[in-house]
Amino acid sequence: MATKLKPAYSVGRNVRLSPLQRIMQKTGRRPTECKCSLCKRQCHTPCLGTPQDILRLMDSGYTSRLSPTLWAAGIVMGICDTEVPLIQARCEDGAWGGLLDVGADSHCTFYTSDGLCELHQQGLKPTEGRLSHHSTRIDNFRASKSVSWAVVQEWLSPDNADVVAEVVRRYNEYQDEQSNTHTL
Ligand code: SF4
Repeated sequence: MATKLKPAYSVGRNVRLSPLQRIMQKTGRRPTECKCSLCKRQCHTPCLGTPQDILRLMDSGYTSRLSPTLWAAGIVMGICDTEVPLIQARCEDGAWGGLLDVGADSHCTFYTSDGLCELHQQGLKPTEGRLSHHSTRIDNFRASKSVSWAVVQEWLSPDNADVVAEVVRRYNEYQDEQSNTHTL
């Protein structure tokens, strides 16, 4: 059964923001559907989803396409001093370890042979993929406005602890099922 998600944050007395709204507010980004070659190239590295995005993927039967990973890009960007453990879309060359490890032929598990996102039509695209655009280049990049950092902060937020725990519990359950299947 699909998990009911509550907004993780509230501002003021009557306004509650979803994680997506919160990240849009922090980064100034809006959802985009650009399909240019530069945007498609970003899908060599799986985009990052909030805990809620990943739970939705699990609810939709995609747990086997997910993988634990360590997000190290923040160290490179100088915005955090440690790797952050996450569960995200799998990289199909198995080298998911952050920007530095991704090979030329690697791609997100949801990147289709026609260069599109398998999740797009289902409304399941992770937040970073929804907000990323080719216009962010090294010369206008600002770490404090980074969408990936804003998404990673959702994993670190105490407000999302219950959702993170549920994602981890379900992923461990999936892995246990897999190892039981292989030992039968
Ligand atoms: S989930 Fe979709 S948008 Fe995100 S990297 Fe994969 S193919 Fe690209």
